[in-house]
Amino acid sequence: MRRIVFCDFDGTITVEETFVAVLKKFAPELSAKLLPEMYARRLTLRQGVRQILESIPSSRYTEILEFTQTQPIRPGFVELLDFLEFQGVPLVVVSGGLQGMVETVLDRLVERVHAIHAVDVETNGSHLKVLSQYEGGTELIAKVEVMSQYPAYQKIAIGDSLTDLNMALQASVIFARDRLAEYLDEQKKPYIRWDNFSQIRDYLANLWK
Ligand SMILES: [Mg+2]
Repeated sequence: MRRIVFCDFDGTITVEETFVAVLKKFAPELSAKLLPEMYARRLTLRQGVRQILESIPSSRYTEILEFTQTQPIRPGFVELLDFLEFQGVPLVVVSGGLQGMVETVLDRLVERVHAIHAVDVETNGSHLKVLSQYEGGTELIAKVEVMSQYPAYQKIAIGDSLTDLNMALQASVIFARDRLAEYLDEQKKPYIRWDNFSQIRDYLANLWK
């Protein structure tokens, strides 16, 4: 594979951060207790997110997906997919959120992305049970591990937050917005600032011309 794009989901494909909103809505007490611990890095995402998700009754899973359904996608995403398809470059979605949430938001676009790697949950017990194929280090989805499954000479990362930092540092071209841009500034790592996917398409069209 020559080139590949790794794209975060929450706050990147979606305009708003959806996953934290879900945790707060469906497990308010535990989220109030554990989210600040995770932000302060006294608790890993891997432990904290798992604990919060597994406190949510399975019977509420459909509500979670319904809550997700109305989340808008950032402008230009379909145009970027069109362009990448034309170029023969796959886009892989890598998310620390729920697989079902990603699929719900993407809807018919699911078949247009190469793969989705996110946290799966089992819903046949009394409470959600977390299943993650790429659990590692401090993360439920170790994005760098996902990346290493796809050898390519040019790896492009698109993201918005701290959870994308390691992925960005492994990429040859980085598109960063919001807090990810700040972290990269601190690391003095060059990146391209972006706000919508059309800018990414235009940049890549120019780069690959
Ligand atoms: Mg994000």
